[in-house]
Amino acid sequence: MTYRYDDQNIFAKILRGEIPNQTVLETEHSLAFDDIAPQAPVHTLVIPKGAYVSFDHFAAEASDAEIVDFNRTIAEVCRIKGVMPQEGRAGFRMISNAGADGVQEVPHLHVHVLGGRDMGRMVE
Ligand code: IMP
Repeated sequence: MTYRYDDQNIFAKILRGEIPNQTVLETEHSLAFDDIAPQAPVHTLVIPKGAYVSFDHFAAEASDAEIVDFNRTIAEVCRIKGVMPQEGRAGFRMISNAGADGVQEVPHLHVHVLGGRDMGRMVE
């Protein structure tokens, strides 16, 4: 499988520092920043720094270190934002939109971390 990455996508520009962002956490291989149009009190995007379009692309070509870093960054963002479901009603939803049916707007792999309110049922 060959993956074509558009290096003019908005997250590539954020990673190059061409567009500002509200950074929540930066690690060796990942960046987490607040969504510009939040859908919940907590709405943070987590992206790998590498040029990956999708989970498929990431799983196929990322190093183990990048994959571990990405997962741990998501977990750390949940702790930083106070939504890790350890206490009270805190909790979160992770979403990654992929491709046309998933309505993925930005073609750089990203996970949305949403929380800070009851997120409702996914399927009514
Ligand atoms: P997608 O539909 O899963 O690709 O979502 C892309 C997300 O990126 C949307 O929730 C947008 O609000 C968000 N977004 C677009 N541009 C920016 C930006 O410059 N900073 C932060 N978030 C952005």
